[in-house]
Amino acid sequence: MKALTWHGQGDVRVDTHPDPEIQEPTDVVIRVTSTAICGSDLHLFDGFMPSMEPGDIIGHEPMGVVEEVGSGVTNLKKGDRVVVPFTISCGHCWFCEQTMYSLCDTSNPNAEMAREAMGHSPAGLFGFSHMLGGFAGGQAEYLRVPHADVGPIVVPDGMTDEQVLFLSDIFPTGYQAAENAEIEGGDTVAVWGCGPVGQFAIQSAWMMGAGRVIAIDREPERLRMAKENSKAEVVNFEEIDGPVHKHLIDMTDGRGPDRCIDAVGAEAHAANDAKALVDQAAQAVHLQSDRGYALQQAIMACRKGGTISVPGVYAKTLTLPFGAAMNKGVTFKMGQTHVQRYLEPLMKKIQDGDIDPSFIITHTAPLDDAPEMYETFRDKKDDCIKVVLKP
Ligand code: NAD
Ligand code: ZN
Repeated sequence: MKALTWHGQGDVRVDTHPDPEIQEPTDVVIRVTSTAICGSDLHLFDGFMPSMEPGDIIGHEPMGVVEEVGSGVTNLKKGDRVVVPFTISCGHCWFCEQTMYSLCDTSNPNAEMAREAMGHSPAGLFGFSHMLGGFAGGQAEYLRVPHADVGPIVVPDGMTDEQVLFLSDIFPTGYQAAENAEIEGGDTVAVWGCGPVGQFAIQSAWMMGAGRVIAIDREPERLRMAKENSKAEVVNFEEIDGPVHKHLIDMTDGRGPDRCIDAVGAEAHAANDAKALVDQAAQAVHLQSDRGYALQQAIMACRKGGTISVPGVYAKTLTLPFGAAMNKGVTFKMGQTHVQRYLEPLMKKIQDGDIDPSFIITHTAPLDDAPEMYETFRDKKDDCIKVVLKP
């Protein structure tokens, strides 16, 4: 089969690989019909993620048709059309029983490597670092899906790939980000990053009763979508005077946003890393800068006693104004998304017409064009916001 493989920073290629086969009785194999490129894939493309190996098949936002079914699978049959969550979860460990699927205790075959780096092992993920399982990803013609009774959701008749594909990751991720922000009716919510995750976080914040949503980015087309489609007030951080957090505090009559969501992650961190190298007084610089990490800005902006939710993915140790966070009594919530928890309720919202997630798609391309599409998405060329590949 054809598959998109990682070969190092800025180097992804469409290669030929053996078709995946059933390895465990609980597996299925799907023929992938649509598969998206995620901001998390950009962290791989940018070389920020540890423990990748040349030739790894990447991609974790797939859907398709079940072609082969392991002998132990009871919920799926050949021919079912399914969306596959990016989190691989066994469904029966202590964490899965608490619906903390992205923290599954058993699905990561490289748990020891994860424990060495993090103290514990989170769930395995498709198409991500070997520390999180090294599972072949879904930007490919076929995908082996472990624990197939727990993850994939069958798509009701009459719904297009484009309507349901983002249940695999970014819609639940934006939704969990808003839930983690502990939004109460009338709250002012600030969202850093107007990429796909930020857009779904904004829309979810409204669903949870936000009174005001302020979105921060520098990409005009993404800010336009945040404003016109997702109905947020927008701040272009390159066009304001002074630090972002001061601007937000001014916009909220001195109080600061009640809830802050960092939907940027390692991208902003990396920009600052380079800066830190040339300035040993990095922390002071970050705090005065209008460009610090989104997470630093969120801590400085958040109202006293507010909540900071972090869907943005980080892989390294960060410098944070933790004293400010402590003295202001903020709450942090974060993590990879427990996708399985949200599949049914969010599918229902799509069916009921509360939201049509396809608004986010700006580019559709064949798998062969994936290397070019990675550059287009990373560099926001051609106003790119979300790419769907059709293997
Ligand atoms: P994306 O790269 O398309 O969007 C990131 C946006 O942040 C861009 O529009 C960029 O211009 C903007 N940005 C960069 N620096 C900024 C700053 N300092 N302030 C404000 N905006 C800034 O990515 P995405 O697909 O929307 O994903 C966003 C983040 O969510 C990534 O870190 C991704 O890895 C993460 N993610 C997490 C999960 C999860 O389970 N928690 C799932 C999917 C994605
Ligand atoms: Zn993703």
